[in-house]
Parts: sequence; C-alpha cells; structure tokens
Amino acid sequence: MALCSVRWFRMAQGIPDEVMMNTTLIKDLADVGKDAALLQGVIMRIKDTPNSSELVTYAPFTLFPTPVPKAVFLQALAVQTHYNTLVDKISRDPDFLQDALASTIAVDDFTARLFRIHQQILREGRSQSIVLGLNRSDYMLDQREDGTSSLKQIEINTFAASFGGLSSRTPDVHRHILKVAGRLEESQRILDNNPAAGLAGAIAKAWELYGSERAVIMFLVEESQRNIFDQRYIEDELWKRNIPSIRKRFDDVCKTGSLDQDKRLFVDGLEVAVVYFRNGYMPQNYVSEQTWDARLLMERSLAVKCPDISTHLAGTKKVQQVLARPGVLEKFFPDQPQVVEQIRATFAGLYTLDMGPEGDRTVAMALAAPDRFVLKPQREGGGNNIYGSEICQVLEGMKESTERMAFILMDKIHPTPSQNYLLRRDAPLQIRNCLSELGVFGAYVRQGNDMVMNECVGHLLRTKSSEHSDGGVAAGVAVLDNPLLI
Ligand code: ADP
Ligand code: MG
Ligand code: MG
Repeated sequence: MALCSVRWFRMAQGIPDEVMMNTTLIKDLADVGKDAALLQGVIMRIKDTPNSSELVTYAPFTLFPTPVPKAVFLQALAVQTHYNTLVDKISRDPDFLQDALASTIAVDDFTARLFRIHQQILREGRSQSIVLGLNRSDYMLDQREDGTSSLKQIEINTFAASFGGLSSRTPDVHRHILKVAGRLEESQRILDNNPAAGLAGAIAKAWELYGSERAVIMFLVEESQRNIFDQRYIEDELWKRNIPSIRKRFDDVCKTGSLDQDKRLFVDGLEVAVVYFRNGYMPQNYVSEQTWDARLLMERSLAVKCPDISTHLAGTKKVQQVLARPGVLEKFFPDQPQVVEQIRATFAGLYTLDMGPEGDRTVAMALAAPDRFVLKPQREGGGNNIYGSEICQVLEGMKESTERMAFILMDKIHPTPSQNYLLRRDAPLQIRNCLSELGVFGAYVRQGNDMVMNECVGHLLRTKSSEHSDGGVAAGVAVLDNPLLI
C-alpha cells in the first residue's frame, strides 16, 4: 500500500523512476538547481558569518516540486482572508484574550510578560488606530482512509512569519530544473508566487496612512541575520515605492529610541511609521530588562506595529486551541455560518490541558496513545514540540501540576509522503521520504473600524524528511519547495 502510493505520487509529479533513480542525472540536476537558486537569489548567508554578505549560499530547497491536490490548495487560499479577519477580531477582544490565556499566563512566564504589556497598553489606551497584520497560516494535508486528503491547520503565525521573500523566487528555480530534466509540461505548471510584493504592499499602505513622508519603516531584526535576503526582498519592494526602510536591532532601540510628546517613535533620529518585527517572538530574544523596555516603548508609540501586542497574543497556540472549542468561532462571526464552517473545516483536534476534568481527560488520552498527538508549549520557531514516548515522560512528570497548563495537545497530522531530494549545503544527495507543509500568507490593514485591505498574498511550501517530527527551514530541518497542483 505504502509503496503503491509512493509510486503514484512519483508518477503524478511527472518524474519517472528512470530519472529519480539515475544518480548521474540527479547529480547534474542538483548542480543546475543550485546555480539556478543563486541566479534567482534564493540565497542565505552562511552559518559561520551570519552578519556578513561576503559569503552566501543557496537556501536549502527540494530538487523537484511536490504534488499538492488542487482543491485543497485552493481551499487554503480561499480561507485566508477569513483567518485575517479572525486574527484581527481576536486582537480587538481583550475579554476573549484574558479568558483564553488566563491559565497559560499563570504558569508561562514569557506569555505572562507579553500579556502584561498588552494590559498596560489597554490601560493607557492604544495610541495608534492603524493596524497592520502580516500572517502565515500553516497546514498539512491529512491523509484520509479513502486516499483523499484534508487540509488541517498546524498553526497561524502572526509574528515574523518568514520566507515570503525567498518563496517569491523559488518558482523559477523549479521551472528551470524541470525543463532541464525534460519535463516541460510540469515546468509550465509551477505557479507564480509573490508574497514579498503583497506583504510590502500592506506595509506601504500602513505607511501611507501614517501620513509622514519623512517617516521610515523599521525592520526590527535579529542579532544573527543569516536569512537577511528573505527580508531584503520586502525592503526592496518598499524602496521601489520610494518608502525608506531601515534595519535596527533591539539594542539600537534601547540606546537611541524615544517617544516625543505625541508618542511619535524616533530611532537613531528617524521617525518610525511602521515597526515590522522580525525578532522578539522567543524568550531568548529578550536578553535583558532593557530589551523588554524597548518592546514596551515601541508598543506604546504612535508607530504602526506589525504585529501589535494583542495580535501577537492572538497567534498563540493556546488561542488556537480555545478557538476550536464549540461555539467560539460563532461568537466572532455571529451572522456568517459559512465563514465559521470554512475556518472550522481546517481545524485539527485540539485539547485543553487546563486543570479540571476536561484537562484530565486530555492527559489520559495522550498517555494512552502518545503517537496520535503532538504536545505543544507556547513557543515559536520550530523544535519546541514534544512527540511520541516523550509525551508520556513529560506528561507523567506534570500531570497533577498546573505546569501542564503551559501546553496544549493537538492531533498529529499524517500527510502522504512523497519522494524527493533535499538540496542543502554539506548534506549528501539522497532520495528521501518527505512530508510537506503548506503556508498561506495573509496581509491586512485596518484603520479604526475600517478594514482598508484584506488579502491573501501568496504561499510557501516547505518539505522535510519524514524522519524529523518538527522544525522549519530556519531550524535547519525543512527546505523550500513549490506545489505542483494535481
Ligand atoms: P512553531 O511555531 O515552532 O513553528 P508548529 O506548531 O508549526 O510550531 O510546529 C513545528 C513543526 O512541528 C511543524 O512545522 C510541523 O512539522 C510539526 N507539527 C506541528 N504540529 C503538528 C501536528 N499536529 N501534526 C504533525 N506535525 C506537526
Ligand atoms: Mg509558529
Ligand atoms: Mg510552525
């Protein structure tokens, strides 16, 4: 059965076994592919010198695109504007956030700290009515018994969702490889994709509404900037519109950031219209109290924050679990049952670990069949989840304790594996059983009660070897890919 489905997928991919198994040809195609990636700018700095562009390499990617059923792909695109609306509504509902996160913040220091900033902003009153949301909703295609697959959301990232830049350039890489492999027809079926332009379009809109020609977009960037080119594509789109953008670290804001009497944010002497956070989603990003002060300063300012603190909290995994409870989506879309239906269709099973009988049932269920679930803390960036027998170890250790409330439990999704080669610097070229995750980029801008823009702006396919349970591209596990619709 497994063999049969692999063969079927290979055929669907249009890459016959004679090609997949011809090591000389694969090696040639890999070389062609790496050059194409460099030519197209699908690049990263190297690990040893992440803050210099003297040495760059290709960003890791698959040799071939991966088949994705068209209906499921279109379903993911179609639901995106509703997810944008949902995230926005949550961010405007302090009571919901308070209730949803109450148990989590009792035990998770990082979320609690973010929540305190959120409360302070609520007390002081939000100084800016323009909201800019750039998110990426991630899915896997769960294999059904009848051979079809269903779209299941893994998570939604409302903070620093990456690879919108590089994924704008990968289509031409796969087109080229397929042409050289003699697969012209498949090559022509690779979809265009340009999240960079769409994300930049929303940032530009927020900048325009802010209404100061002098003011800049500030990318708040990491200490280590290996993936800088992913962001440069967005910066480039802004510069094309003659919108100045700068890159600053938390430390720069600590040292030179200030608010004037109107709460306008100045960094290094420049007025900041939009803070686009590409750093600040992990506890370790906050190296000192001054870093937290800098975050608070930016949140309190008149600058448009992407995301603002409440939108950041709306992207937590605890909120995702609460949304899956009966009746919750209906509260956000009281007169739109079709929207509720469309969003809910993408939910996997999500279970609370709060104290009480419901949480106890979750614990018992997970201990009885750990392989059916993923245990997730409120963390981002890959590599934080717990799988398999480790779920038992961790849960046994905390099942009677409130510590368990820092986690949620989720059904494990089982996508159909496909075979591919993962091109990564210093890794052997081997055929692998792979699993893919589809991301869809959403962008919206609201001013007061007026949704000025709400769009789906592109997609991202990431593929990893099936031996890894967890981890994204930045975590060194997944690689960039393209869907080939079937
Ligand atoms: P993060 O915010 O760290 O990216 P995710 O929820 O996306 O957290 O989980 C990280 C990775 O773990 C995903 O990219 C995916 O490979 C895997 N994963 C997460 N949830 C599931 C799930 N329910 N079923 C199967 N794999 C999952
Ligand atoms: Mg995430
Ligand atoms: Mg993720």
